[in-house]
Amino acid sequence: MRSESGGDTDDASDDRNGCLCSRGRAGLFVGLLLAKAGVRVTVLESHDNFDREYRGEVLQPRFLQLLQQLNLRDYIESFPGAKVRQGTLFYKNKRMGSFSFEDVSGAFPYALWMPQPVLLQALYDKARTFPSFEMLFHAPVKQLLHEGDRIAGVVAETADGPLEVRARLTVGADGRFSAVRKLGGFEIEYEHYAGDLVWFTVPKPADGGEELRMLITDGQRLYRPA
Ligand SMILES: Cc1cc2nc3c(=O)[nH]c(=O)nc-3n(C[C@H](O)[C@H](O)[C@H](O)COP(=O)(O)OP(=O)(O)OC[C@H]3O[C@@H](n4cnc5c(N)ncnc54)[C@H](O)[C@@H]3O)c2cc1C
Repeated sequence: MRSESGGDTDDASDDRNGCLCSRGRAGLFVGLLLAKAGVRVTVLESHDNFDREYRGEVLQPRFLQLLQQLNLRDYIESFPGAKVRQGTLFYKNKRMGSFSFEDVSGAFPYALWMPQPVLLQALYDKARTFPSFEMLFHAPVKQLLHEGDRIAGVVAETADGPLEVRARLTVGADGRFSAVRKLGGFEIEYEHYAGDLVWFTVPKPADGGEELRMLITDGQRLYRPA
């Protein structure tokens, strides 16, 4: 088994300070922030690249506010995305009302519809400008490393065989079906919802503006940017 740490975990200089499992936006964000603070961090991702279909591509004003606080807003907004300034609610064909993101947040008067692969690539490109950041693709986490009663890193499967990454802090940001959660035996609180959600994309109409339309039919709801 190869080792990222060189072995003795008492020697903190040999250890990664942080190890993150995933390159979803949570994992990439934490990795970026740790690397920016000078922490040596390894992000492990099971897939090969960012080129997949994701759910959830609207970055709300609060998210833009966060980007602003991190001096990332102009950078992220320089990538392809669409501004959504208003929302309108329809019941069947009847327009019931509308809201403006300006009313939600004057400083951030829009939401940003940005394809997730674009966002993730942008975060990754920024993170890897920091020498303390490293990311391994195609490296699913398979095992947790323990030292006494603490988790001291992970073992990931790579093309070159198992890779041991020792770290002072291990973060599992590997999504809803988290392997880290299962391996650690952590319980989640689960809330049941009355409905199911079907996710699909349709082309934006040619006359589309900067509006998000929400359509409610009998017991169903459809969201789309106009
Ligand atoms: C239908 C729907 C619509 C949504 N709409 C929005 C929206 O408009 N705006 C919004 O902000 N949010 C939205 N969300 C929520 C949003 O999608 C999630 O909150 C977000 O994706 C969570 O990000 P994450 O990084 O925690 O996890 P994920 O995006 O799930 O990333 C987890 C990553 O971990 C990797 N991974 C898995 N197992 C391993 C392993 N063993 N080792 C290493 N890596 C592993 C996966 O490959 C993946 O890259 C929506 C969610 C749904 C379901």
